[in-house]
Amino acid sequence: MIEKYIRDVPDFPKEGILFKDITPLLKSPEGLALAISGMAEAVDPDSFDLVCGIESRGFIFGTALAHKIGKGFIPIRKPGKLPWKTTSQSYDLEYGTDTLEIHEDACSGQRVLVVDDLLATGGTMAAGLELVRRVGGDPIACIVAIELAMLKGRERLGDVAVHTLMTV
Ligand code: AMP
Repeated sequence: MIEKYIRDVPDFPKEGILFKDITPLLKSPEGLALAISGMAEAVDPDSFDLVCGIESRGFIFGTALAHKIGKGFIPIRKPGKLPWKTTSQSYDLEYGTDTLEIHEDACSGQRVLVVDDLLATGGTMAAGLELVRRVGGDPIACIVAIELAMLKGRERLGDVAVHTLMTV
């Protein structure tokens, strides 16, 4: 149970948002081990080839998980950060849009598990899954530490399996 390691911060980064702060979880050796072991147990490592993390908190969980289960890691990053040829995907935020990028040669023909810290409206994860598809990968599942169920993010992810460690 990772719940006790998550700190609720009201009105961050703006009024009305209850921010789920994972830094106490990361700081605690027990909490961090619980989170990474929990993710490793939630997925079937034979069902995918690579772990993909979404910048930036998806990198923390994604890389540790990939190492634990003996997989490689590929990053999805904010625009202008990846050095090789990229494909981009924009998605809607509450106000305006945001963009994510992946290397064109990141995962051609491979099955991919996509990782982030939190699923809210699902826009970020949906963009991540789409980027994997656009470069020829097969996003078979995704995993997050925290799901904000009332925002119904998983409804935007189609048939892709969604794993979570904690549901609010
Ligand atoms: P969404 O695209 O709406 O599913 O938002 C998910 C992304 O925004 C994740 O990368 C989270 O890190 C971040 N995020 C959204 N809402 C929160 C929240 N209440 N607490 C912490 N992070 C959040």
